[in-house]
Amino acid sequence: MNKTVKRIVVILIILILLPAAFLTINEFVSLNQNEEVIGRIYSNQLDAILYSVNQYSEDVVSSWASKIDLFLDDISKLDLENIPSAIDSIYNQFPSLTLIFVADSLNDNQIDILKNNTQNNYFANDEPNLNAPIKKLLSENQSLISRLISYKSSDYRKLEPVEMDSIADSYAILFIEETPLGNNRITGMLIDPKVFTYRILSPKLQEIAQQEFVISVFNSEENYQFNSSNDFEQREVQQSKALWIFPNYQIGISLVGQTIEDLVQQRALTNIILIGLLTIVLLLGVWIVYRNIKKEVELAQIKTDFVSNVSHELRTPLSLISMFSETLEMDRVKTDEKKKEYYSIISQEANRLSKIVNSILNFSKMEAGKRQYNFVDSYLNDVAENVYRSYKFHLEQKGFTFSIVKDESIPIIKIDEEAISEAIVNLVDNAVKYSNTSKEIIIRTGMENNNAYVQVEDKGIGIPEKDQKKVFEKFFRVSSGNVHNVKGSGIGLSIVKHIVDAHKGKIELRSEVNKGSKFKLLLP
Ligand code: ADP
Repeated sequence: MNKTVKRIVVILIILILLPAAFLTINEFVSLNQNEEVIGRIYSNQLDAILYSVNQYSEDVVSSWASKIDLFLDDISKLDLENIPSAIDSIYNQFPSLTLIFVADSLNDNQIDILKNNTQNNYFANDEPNLNAPIKKLLSENQSLISRLISYKSSDYRKLEPVEMDSIADSYAILFIEETPLGNNRITGMLIDPKVFTYRILSPKLQEIAQQEFVISVFNSEENYQFNSSNDFEQREVQQSKALWIFPNYQIGISLVGQTIEDLVQQRALTNIILIGLLTIVLLLGVWIVYRNIKKEVELAQIKTDFVSNVSHELRTPLSLISMFSETLEMDRVKTDEKKKEYYSIISQEANRLSKIVNSILNFSKMEAGKRQYNFVDSYLNDVAENVYRSYKFHLEQKGFTFSIVKDESIPIIKIDEEAISEAIVNLVDNAVKYSNTSKEIIIRTGMENNNAYVQVEDKGIGIPEKDQKKVFEKFFRVSSGNVHNVKGSGIGLSIVKHIVDAHKGKIELRSEVNKGSKFKLLLP
């Protein structure tokens, strides 16, 4: 690798690749941490939702307690016959409330049970039998009740759920209130949790859950589960909490269609893909920069070679011209014959010089995009024939077998005759330059796929496969084999290519090392 290119590679690595690699690794490491944090945030959000469900159910029960308390305060003011219907209206207001009982103190012998007459209530006719279990409940929870009383004395009414073993599916929610006379009153509301869930919670759950979550109320011991969405079948929930008012029941929440892990993984995946894409773009950028710089450096090198090649090519004819003209000037040449020979060498070399200069001028015009073409109706055969005629004598003198094979069916086509003959001349020149012992050159014309073509064949040294594309690049010269014995500037074929491109044509090259080359110019 060239020194300059090496330096640029080092700079690219230090300035771009190293920081990029560092950043990428850092991103990957922090991605894991982010995943954990995001997981926690999601789960806190779900917790907050569960909290709000708990709060809501407690608020509902608490409002019931307040209303029942007001009712009990005022019950003595009612006419006796109105009391049953008043009680019934309380039950009607609070679905899932199955029984209200009141005790004046822990040692109260007579528990007051507010009888529900309208509902098809299984306690309605069971009043005396309920006395005992309620008493048992109170006596079992004495310390709890004392605590509630002490809360009440500091003006805080706490609701406390107690499981009612003797009555299936029931929770007694106990609370203490003060009677108008200033005594404590122990009140209990018997609530059926399933009915409560269905009638009271379900609309709220649906409202909170919307389409994003499913909120469930379940009791694993009883294998019971209520879901806010009908489509939700799975019994597992992603996160759950006990329901405050019915401690044996849980509220659970699930994201619809995916879990928190899915969500977090999705985010992580998106991030990884983004980082990957960025890295690829960066690498691509670095690679393009590297390629461009390498090309520029190579071109600079090639240009230096070009100058030395051209100088070399110019020097040979110039030194011949000056040598022979000096000899003539000094009158050292004796015979007329010799003089004639020297004059002819001088004119030949002058011709060569002007050809080289011409092609360099053409090339620079081409490079500047200033070369203009003049397309006219022409016979390709005539153009090829002209080149053939002007070279025939010269080549045969050099020992070449030079022939032309024309296809007479070629129609008139629009070409720049001068440019095309320049292209053919360049090809013939190369064929001469790169022929060894098999000195045979053929110009062929013909038709192929609606294109007219002219082809120059030689039996020379050929071009290695790997260089066949490159020979049309400016300044390129094959570096292997015996090419270096031959003078050249590396612009001949790039001029040919430019000319053919201007004609919207194509060049085909078939070549084998030591067998020869065929350059075919296809013109539409
Ligand atoms: P140059 O002035 O070096 O001849 P060209 O652009 O005409 O430049 O050709 C580019 C290179 O292609 C040459 O240096 C030579 O290596 C190779 N080349 C061109 N024509 C032939 C051919 N007929 N046979 C073998 N090699 C060829």
